[in-house]
Parts: sequence; structure tokens; C-alpha cells
Amino acid sequence: MTDPPLNRLPEHALLIGGRTSGDGSGGVEDHVYAANGRVTRSVPLAGVREVDAAVSEARRAFETWRGMLPRDRARILHSIGDALVRHREELAQIQTIETSVPIAFSGAFAEIAARYFFYNAGWADKAAGEMVPAGSGALDYAIEEPYGVIGAIVPWNASLIAVCQILAPVLAAGNTVVLKPPPLAPFVAVRVAELALEAGLPPGVVNVVTGGAEAGEHLVRHPDVAKVHFTGSPVTARRVLMSAAERIAPVSLELGGKSPLVVFGDADPMAAAQQALTSMAGLCGQGCTLPTRVLVEEGLSDRFITLLKGLLRRVQIGDPFEDATQMGPLVSAAACARVLSAIDRARRENEGTLIMGGYRLDGSLGDGYYVAPTLFADVGPDSALAQEEIFGPVLSLFTFGDEDEAIRMANASRYGLAAYVFAADLRRAHRVAAALEAGSVWINGPVAVEPSMPFGGCKESGYGRLGGRAGIREFTRPKNVWLSVR
Ligand code: NAD
Repeated sequence: MTDPPLNRLPEHALLIGGRTSGDGSGGVEDHVYAANGRVTRSVPLAGVREVDAAVSEARRAFETWRGMLPRDRARILHSIGDALVRHREELAQIQTIETSVPIAFSGAFAEIAARYFFYNAGWADKAAGEMVPAGSGALDYAIEEPYGVIGAIVPWNASLIAVCQILAPVLAAGNTVVLKPPPLAPFVAVRVAELALEAGLPPGVVNVVTGGAEAGEHLVRHPDVAKVHFTGSPVTARRVLMSAAERIAPVSLELGGKSPLVVFGDADPMAAAQQALTSMAGLCGQGCTLPTRVLVEEGLSDRFITLLKGLLRRVQIGDPFEDATQMGPLVSAAACARVLSAIDRARRENEGTLIMGGYRLDGSLGDGYYVAPTLFADVGPDSALAQEEIFGPVLSLFTFGDEDEAIRMANASRYGLAAYVFAADLRRAHRVAAALEAGSVWINGPVAVEPSMPFGGCKESGYGRLGGRAGIREFTRPKNVWLSVR
């Protein structure tokens, strides 16, 4: 196992008012490299004091940032995107140390993240309001105003993309931000904020307070935070909503998923199997949109399973810093224990038939948190395996008889983030896409989330959108101005 290049890591996990700091009142947590189980750094975390300081800096910077010419804001966002691309190798290495995403995969993250800045820069001087018809005696117009300080709570997975997906529209709309990454991902966000400063972003516009639940709750309750954005699990989202309710603060939510992949009998089974493979390779199942419930039309099922098993057997699992590695470990010892316990429960309770994997890898990978690609077939539709987000390399397979049954099974989930349809008959594919309860539907893959797409969920996958015109609207609010001209 290659020793990770720890000298790449930024020195501190906090950045407030343009200055990084290693002085946190929220305790110290060890960050562990998941591929070998060894501590990379002891990280001082933000507490109440640092959150207060960050919000105050963001508030101060708001007038400067919102007062800039929109084209100047756009220019800075472009420069941030350019800086991310220039630093792609460094950012990939930091990402791989932070969450053990294989370098072959994280190598593309900076360019994807940069695209969020390039796309949203275009909106900075185009997100106009509208004239409102008011008769000849009045002039009525609605302007789109930024909220002010956005408190953005982010998860650890694919942190480089997750952070930029939020920062870009928030900044393009003229807001400032206090970003709270979790202790599992203490490096990427700070490095992005440093690069943004170097690219010309005024100090205080982006602040980073890496910390745990205490910092997150304080940010949500802070009276100077005008809107909260939360990306994470539905369990934490409920707490966030309850805290926000105390001061009636608006919240947008990007939450988990248990996304269906529906494969009709006339589909290209290899293309569909490769889509299913994305639930294992790359992020090791730790992605919110990944297709974790695979629904295959009876008749194609045996062939599909054979193809998928063949693909999974060939997945290169190993050292995240090896170019050939396609799948790394789970992010932490706790995540590994949680995934193994979900597998054990599924076997004990006969939730499905285990046809592949189901164990932790040992030998040269034994110090890391590696779990073998795991497949269950004939999964009970009401079982925990079918209903809970496992966030690991575990796929559940189901069969369906006809289109109506496929739609019913796909929608039988409390989540509604994403869905995937594979069918040669495009009339059917469109019909099914219309009937699926999901924020995004992809037909016949391969799949990419682009900054131009209004990305978000329905049901317990949350509400609000990141991306597209909707992503800008998420971080502005209309103000109506009526003027008498009699
Ligand atoms: P999590 O809910 O445990 O944590 C999310 C964030 O909330 C972290 O920053 C955490 O420190 C913070 N937090 C914890 N307790 C808090 C509290 N009481 N108040 C305020 N903040 C608090 O989620 P996670 O394990 O970091 O991430 C995995 C989850 O995120 C999965 O459910 C995944 O599907 C989801 N996710 C969704 C998207 C999306 O765009 N829809 C993207 C990535 C991840």
C-alpha cells in the first residue's frame, strides 16, 4: 500500500475572514486514511466561538460582494474555476487522502467542480428579476436579491464536488457563505477556499468551519444566517429542520437516496450492468444518487446477473493511489462496521439471497476498511435491504413482470433522488420517466450530473435544487417594488 503524500494536506481545517486557523474550540479529532487505518492528522475543530466569528466575517463581506458589478463577480468565479483546474492533481491527491476515492476517479473531480463555477459565473449578470404588469399608473418590478449569509452544511462524500456544487450558485447569486464540512472531510473545503482567495475572492465571502454536530447546530440557529443549505442524511436533516423552525429560517435539503435502476427486456444489458457497476466502483457505494435497487424484467434476469457478476469480479479493488484501482475502501471504521452489520442482518433475516460478496477484505487490505462488492437477489420489497440507504458496495436485485409493476416497485421507497431507465423502446422510457417519483431520471446512461441540471430530490430525498436556473433561484428571493407614476 502506497504511503499517501500527507505533505499535500493544508495545514488547518478552518478558514475565517481570509485567514486559516488551527485554533478550534470544538475539540480535536484524528483524521484517518481509510485505506490503511492510520491517522493522517489531528484536526482542531470549530465550536461555537469559530462559527460566531465566521458568520460575523461573512456578514461584513456581504455588502462588498453584493455591491460588486455582476460582471466582476462572474470574472472572479471564472478565475476560481481556472484555479481548480490548474490544481487538479493536488486536489485529487487531497481528495484521495481525505476519503480514499481512487486517484483514477478523483483525478476528474477538479474539472467537474470547476464546471460548477464556469456555469454559474454565467448567471451572475443574467439572473434578472421581472417587470410586473401594473397598469399605466404604476411601475412594478420584482428584483432577485441575495439572501445574505448562507450557512451551508456539507457531507464528506465526493467532498470536492459537493462543496463546489453549493459554493458556485451561492456566490453567483451574490451571497456570502459559512461552509461547515464534517471532521471526516477536513481538508478539501479549506483548500478550495484558499484557492478562491488567491483567485481574487474578497476575504470573508467564503469561510470554512470544519466541525461536528455542535458547530452545525450553532450555524443553523445563528440569527445572522439568512438561509441554511443542508446536504446529508434525512436523520440529521430532521434535527436541522427543528432548529431552523425555532427562528423560521428557510432551509434547502439535498438528502439520501435508494435509487432504482429499471432494466426492460429490450434494453442493452451490458450498458445497464455497467450502470449498476457505478454503485460499487468509484465511490464504493458512497454516493447519494447511485442506483442501489436494480429492477430487471423477468426473462432478462439470469443473463443480466451473469453479466453483472462478471463485471464485478473484474473490478480492481486496492490501493487508492494506484492508477489501476477502481474501488477503494469505505470512509471509516464506523462506516465499515455499519455496512457489514446491514449485510449480516440481511442474511440473518432472509431479506434476500446473497449471491456475491458479503465480507470484509483481509490480507494486504486488512488494515483498511474494504468490503467486497456484494449482491443480493430476490430481495423482499419491504425489507430493510430494499428500503434503507446502506451507503456501501451493496446492490439489491429484483425482478418485475410488466411496466406497471416496474413503476410500482421503483416508487415503493420513501426516497426520491434519482432513477435510471434502460429500454430500447423510447416511448416506454419516456412514459416510465414521467411516472417515476424522483428528482432526476436518466435514460440509457451513462450518467453525469452537470451544473446545468436542476439537481435535487423529492420525498425524503429533500427539496430545493442545486444547478441550472433553479440553483440560482434557490439562493435569491424576489423583492417587489411598486412605484406610483401618476
Ligand atoms: P450526515 O447527515 O451524518 O452529516 C451531514 C452534515 O451534517 C455533516 O457536516 C455533519 O457534521 C452535520 N451534522 C451532524 N449533526 C448535525 C446537527 N445536529 N446539526 C447540524 N449539522 C449536523 O451525513 P453524512 O454521513 O456526512 O453524509 C452521507 C449522507 O449524505 C447520505 O445520506 C447521502 O445520501 C447524503 N448526500 C446527499 C447528497 C445530495 O446531493 N442529495 C450528496 C451527498 C451526500
